[in-house]
Amino acid sequence: MMRHLAGLLRALGLVRYDLIARRTSRYPDDASVRDGELVFVVDGGVEKWACFRCPGGCGALIPLSLNPRRRPRWSVALDWLHRPTVRPSVHQTNDCACHFHVNGGRVDWCEGGRPLGRGART
Ligand SMILES: [Zn+2]
Repeated sequence: MMRHLAGLLRALGLVRYDLIARRTSRYPDDASVRDGELVFVVDGGVEKWACFRCPGGCGALIPLSLNPRRRPRWSVALDWLHRPTVRPSVHQTNDCACHFHVNGGRVDWCEGGRPLGRGART
């Protein structure tokens, strides 16, 4: 299990990440998506969804469509530890209005895109 290895390496201070990918073939129930994980839905070899909780503190589920025939659409790439890189950036349309990139599992906030006084990292 790559996620367990990733958790161990993070606990040892050897790697850093905010999000780690979990692959599944079915769209997840809202309640099953935990903080700090990105649920990467791949069904029959077709990348469909990337779902994770908003890192800005509101906890809203963010479902990103990976379907190339839909707009908008995103792409997800995983590194050796299953840390996701998401393109393009994510801009929440709800009240929290978060705007960030996900690079190698790290949430990189866009200027003005982070809710004040919230979030796990400084
Ligand atoms: Zn939010």
